[in-house]
Amino acid sequence: MFKKILIANRGEIALRIIQACRELGVETVAVHSTADRDSLHVTYAHEDVCIGPPPSSSSYLNIGSVIAAAEITGAEAVHPGYGFLAENAHFAEVLADCKIAWIGPKPETIRAMGDKANARRVAMDAGVPVLPGSRQPIGDAAEAAALADEVGYPVILKAAAGGGGRGMRIVRDPAEIAGQFATASEEAAKAFGDGSMYLEKYLAEPRHVEFQIFGDRHGTIVHLGERDCSIQRRHQKLVEESPSTALDAELRQRMGAAAVRLAEAVSYENAGTIEFLLDRDGSFYFMEMNTRIQVEHPVTEMVMGVDLVKEQIRVAAGEPLSFGGGMAPRGHAIECRINAEDPERFMPSPGRLTTLHLPGGPGIRVDTHTYQEYVIPPYYDSMVAKLIAHGRDRGEAIARLRRALDFFIVEGVKTTIPLYKQILVDPAFCRGEVSTRFMEEFRARQAGEEDAGE
Ligand code: ADP
Repeated sequence: MFKKILIANRGEIALRIIQACRELGVETVAVHSTADRDSLHVTYAHEDVCIGPPPSSSSYLNIGSVIAAAEITGAEAVHPGYGFLAENAHFAEVLADCKIAWIGPKPETIRAMGDKANARRVAMDAGVPVLPGSRQPIGDAAEAAALADEVGYPVILKAAAGGGGRGMRIVRDPAEIAGQFATASEEAAKAFGDGSMYLEKYLAEPRHVEFQIFGDRHGTIVHLGERDCSIQRRHQKLVEESPSTALDAELRQRMGAAAVRLAEAVSYENAGTIEFLLDRDGSFYFMEMNTRIQVEHPVTEMVMGVDLVKEQIRVAAGEPLSFGGGMAPRGHAIECRINAEDPERFMPSPGRLTTLHLPGGPGIRVDTHTYQEYVIPPYYDSMVAKLIAHGRDRGEAIARLRRALDFFIVEGVKTTIPLYKQILVDPAFCRGEVSTRFMEEFRARQAGEEDAGE
């Protein structure tokens, strides 16, 4: 096992990794920008190194500074968390050159799956269903138009290097495809440094169902069931749960087998997620793979009774997986991402948490780096906490989450807590009838109620 690990991240995930290291008896090194001096990940780590000014491009994304911090402190391994450098194959390669272990998949796997157009091809070759669409990146607007005619409208144009819900365009009208292709490709080139685009059929109201997979260095690859992340705004996840109300044992088995097959095709090591879209008729299609730990990993931990971050570290140190595949979920878990945002317009609301009281009690887990008087800086994502409830069944998980939201007190910034309180009593949500159009329909129901009340 490693003696010392550097955590190339901030916020709740940096703290989560420190927790795992403590339990394993591993020393930790925190890196931080000047804006994060007062962060808990700095407080709780054994050592800390300031790596630059607030903008992440000058600190958390600065490969030279992070490597220098690892060299100075003698860290033997780096855990990247999610976001920042977590899916940067070049960073993983530089670490290898410096004889520092990378807690994640091999750089070539990150590269192969990080290009979403290429990942689609890997899936096709592995016999995993994908939506009708591109086999390689689209060359020009005429090619996009021809392909869209072939698969049928509506279609979605996606940036091969896109992520976080950005770089996507839904096109419903053939007259718009050429123009949309040109602007989307230009935007992608600016945002991601790569203008490659691909195209696939757009589904009207699918569910987002993803599988947690895990591989070790000894050739074992398993899945740990699914997470339903259909409740999204602007293609970004808000609520995640496991198991999905849309899967029975047979469909779970088939989707899980497809996820493992794809992971095997790239000899996957460490934690990863295979994302699918699940259509109403039970057909499912590979969407993309995330080659890192996900924000929503706690719901899997709760129902499977495992510690995915500890497992990541063990596996990176060469140990075999400590669990097998085919585990049945125990009960039900739901997570809400609580952000410092205006919940109506989803505008960031950074600032000081003048009051903070975190809920607890049976079945409640709160993953957070915040504390009373903490100032949420404007430079990074606006997450305050992840609130996760676990119950014997979905009903108990919902009841616990509602109760915990009532007891979750934040003052000083606006948060998404009021929005979650409304979602958790929404009849469609309570029946488990959700799709990626949920938020749109939920807002329409709310507007309808307001009209009726006038
Ligand atoms: P990102 O990497 O930016 O998260 P994804 O490819 O994972 O992008 O897609 C994010 C979300 O966009 C999905 O969860 C889904 O809501 C929507 N989406 C993506 N592709 C399609 C599609 N072909 N049809 C319908 N919705 C889609």
